[in-house]
Amino acid sequence: MNRKYFAAAAAILAVAFAVLWIAYGRNNSTEAFSLASASAQTPKTVYLTFDDGPSDRVTPKILDVLDEENVKATFFIIGQQAERRDYLIKREAESGHTVAVHSYTHNYSEIYSSPRSLIADIDRCNDVIESITGKRSDLYRFPGGSYGLREELIAAAAGHGMRYVDWNASTRDAECPGGAGQLFDSAVATSAGLDRVVLLSHDSTYKTSTPEATRRLIRYYRENGYTFDVL
Ligand SMILES: [Zn+2]
Repeated sequence: MNRKYFAAAAAILAVAFAVLWIAYGRNNSTEAFSLASASAQTPKTVYLTFDDGPSDRVTPKILDVLDEENVKATFFIIGQQAERRDYLIKREAESGHTVAVHSYTHNYSEIYSSPRSLIADIDRCNDVIESITGKRSDLYRFPGGSYGLREELIAAAAGHGMRYVDWNASTRDAECPGGAGQLFDSAVATSAGLDRVVLLSHDSTYKTSTPEATRRLIRYYRENGYTFDVL
């Protein structure tokens, strides 16, 4: 056997694979799924997603609401926060929610400075997830979303094996310090007419209206024929 030949063939295959992978990414196929409306046969589904946690103040309340309503959600976590609150990540995982990568630092200027920094940040967050839950996640949400991000950053995350997902509806709890009613209204308005709703909320420490808004929204979506799923 000619080892050089095999090394060259392996390198060519690796390059071909990388090119295909990136081409795939350019078609947005590496998104967890398309945010476009589903076909008429597909049941209406809501994916509740919570970013920037865990926090001692808000995350337990959201978990209580999800337990009481028997709904599973997806948490895009910040590694730095999770290290000091492993009991919350444990509770999320043990309750059947999805624990996914958001960032270790959530520091835009640092993580978006280069593809290498981005991957290091993803890996560091995943190290924390693995240390608490025993397994890594391949699900990712870019801090701030992928909208308008440099193509090389999106390609780097996809090439690193991460499925990424943005959102198509929001409680706008990041922008509005409003009460639960206001968050509820924003979610209803932004998800109007969608069969597949990926709803953005936050479980960081100042989002104190989000648990109650989540409870009202679960009931609203149920009444309107939606079921709930995790990413
Ligand atoms: Zn975030």
